Amino acid sequence: MGTIIEGAEGLFTGRREAPRAKGAIRYEAGIITHVGDVVAAPGDTIIDASGCVIYPGLVNTHHHLAQSMLKAIPAAIDLPVTEWLVEVPYRYWRKLDEATFRLAATIGMVELLLSGATTIADHHYIYSPDLGYDPSEILFEIAASLGLRFVLCRGSATRPSRLSAQGAVGVPAETIAQTLDTIAALAQRFHQSGPGSMRKVVLAPTNLIWSVEPQDIRDLSREGRALGLRLHSHLSEAPGDVAHCLQTRGLRPVHYAAQNDFVGDDVWFAHLVHVDDAELNLLVETGTGMAHCPQSNARLGSGIAPAPKLAALGGRVTIGVDGAASNEAADMISEMHSAWHLHRTGGRPDAVRVEDVVSWSSVNGARMLGFEDTGSLEPSMAADIAVFDLSQPRYAGLHDPLIGPVVSAGSAQMRRLVIAGADIVVDGIIPGLDLGNLARDARRGIARLIDQN
Ligand SMILES: [Zn+2]
Repeated sequence: MGTIIEGAEGLFTGRREAPRAKGAIRYEAGIITHVGDVVAAPGDTIIDASGCVIYPGLVNTHHHLAQSMLKAIPAAIDLPVTEWLVEVPYRYWRKLDEATFRLAATIGMVELLLSGATTIADHHYIYSPDLGYDPSEILFEIAASLGLRFVLCRGSATRPSRLSAQGAVGVPAETIAQTLDTIAALAQRFHQSGPGSMRKVVLAPTNLIWSVEPQDIRDLSREGRALGLRLHSHLSEAPGDVAHCLQTRGLRPVHYAAQNDFVGDDVWFAHLVHVDDAELNLLVETGTGMAHCPQSNARLGSGIAPAPKLAALGGRVTIGVDGAASNEAADMISEMHSAWHLHRTGGRPDAVRVEDVVSWSSVNGARMLGFEDTGSLEPSMAADIAVFDLSQPRYAGLHDPLIGPVVSAGSAQMRRLVIAGADIVVDGIIPGLDLGNLARDARRGIARLIDQN
């Protein structure tokens, strides 16, 4: 017996060649069986989606869930990225006890679910024996309890933090052997490949320029690939990253990554704001992807990544919300609105179309993370489906309702969110989760953090 969602104003498939469809969508045993004209089978459940539009479940390719309890810290609200790193993640990481970390991860995942995300990649780099808990285990546990597809990009550093000189207490460095042992153990325990996979592990040195030595990069990429894992890192977020790479390595960052075997169709980088044409071409030639994080880049004054240019050259653009300490929200729809809007400030109102942003946020993200059976709405794909309700006044008057969630911005109203065929959000509610309690716990947690500071 299957489920049919019918009566919507339209749906985005996520596919570039046929982005829009009309009609209904049917799924059974977690797999989409029909899109468009659907005839109900005996026993099918019918869900009414009148007044709604349907998108593929959205895919967030770069995040730091730990930062969901570090939003809008007054001392850092107007700082650029390096100073912000000192004032926020590096000032607070040791204060994230297990309860606070669990709260942060839950808030971030819930925010994403309520904005239509079905798959999250979290770049977590805060690991220390002093913590007294295992962040990786907790992230997988909470994601599973919420029914999310979850990708842990396990961060690491073999060099002490460059920010120690500025008064920051850096996350302890590891030896390359420690990192590789940890990654291998994580992969063995959590990594799934093939159809239906719900969790993956990615090898993700925290910052390719600052956190690791060239030989480490080569060792990490070789060993990661031998384990069948993808590779991820931060790259070229701020002009200082490029200057430092040129000064110390004699190459711009993407060429430096290539020199050390850290490019390919199994690699994506967060940001890539400051890349020249030769670097863009190298990204395209190698299939290396971008996690475009326009809101964090704007908030920190880092610049605007050339995502449309990379896409026009045939490159791989995906969307990441980045940590909520440099974004103040973890909301895919908000990020998609910014990706659609921001590039138009350059003088071209057709710089990015909604269809582009939907592809970046769905099928492109899923493929980049290694999911072959999610990210688009078509038969045989996993039933990861976001149904947005357009009954709020902000959507009234739209001549093209399908693009409403992206162009009208604001907080999306989830009529339903389905992951692998399971109902995760129903009429804006996550069954079993009290959002009022979550907000109260967050206020108490923030009071504790402020007291400790
Ligand atoms: Zn980041």
